[in-house]
Amino acid sequence: MGSSSQAQVDRMEVELNQMALQRLHLSDRRDLLAVLLDFRRSSDQRRAHPGGDGSSAEVGAIDEQLAALALKEEELQKSIDQILHPKGQPATLPDHTNFIPKGGVFIMPPVMEEPVVAPPPPMSAPKVILDHRKLPSTPSHTQCPFCHQFITTETVTRVGSVTWLVCVMSALLGCVAGCCLIPFCVPSLKDVEHRCPKCRAEIYTVRKL
Ligand SMILES: [Zn+2]
Repeated sequence: MGSSSQAQVDRMEVELNQMALQRLHLSDRRDLLAVLLDFRRSSDQRRAHPGGDGSSAEVGAIDEQLAALALKEEELQKSIDQILHPKGQPATLPDHTNFIPKGGVFIMPPVMEEPVVAPPPPMSAPKVILDHRKLPSTPSHTQCPFCHQFITTETVTRVGSVTWLVCVMSALLGCVAGCCLIPFCVPSLKDVEHRCPKCRAEIYTVRKL
């Protein structure tokens, strides 16, 4: 948009504001006259007072002026709109800086995105315990010394020395009514035996004592 048309629009807007102000003054005056006219009519009923037509004629003239002003304002607004947005273009056009014209069609530029590579799932390699004396109380990976295969051991609990020790001690402390048999039902007081699931051989027994 050129600076000359911008100046033109500015001038028109100033004119529009002036007209709006004028319309406000006129409508104020019209309201005042209407009140005055009402007052006169009510007083005319009591005493005949000729010559009340002057105000009503003025009200009619103001009405005409107001209508003309409204028409002019509308036209002015239309011409301002035409200057600001010629040929019926939409007020806001999409920003073309991010678009690449191609055969009259605006297409979005290809978005360069960093390829997202999902990290591999955490897979800790099963720890193979070759020294059977270091086997824990849970099923573990090891090499069977009999069939020489890499296996996950099966575990079974066995009554061990700790089980018997706790049983005897509880009996000595007075638990003779069957309470001394409780240790035989507590796995954590028993030994753990590792077995090979392939050849069924007993590999190692984890003793509690
Ligand atoms: Zn085996």
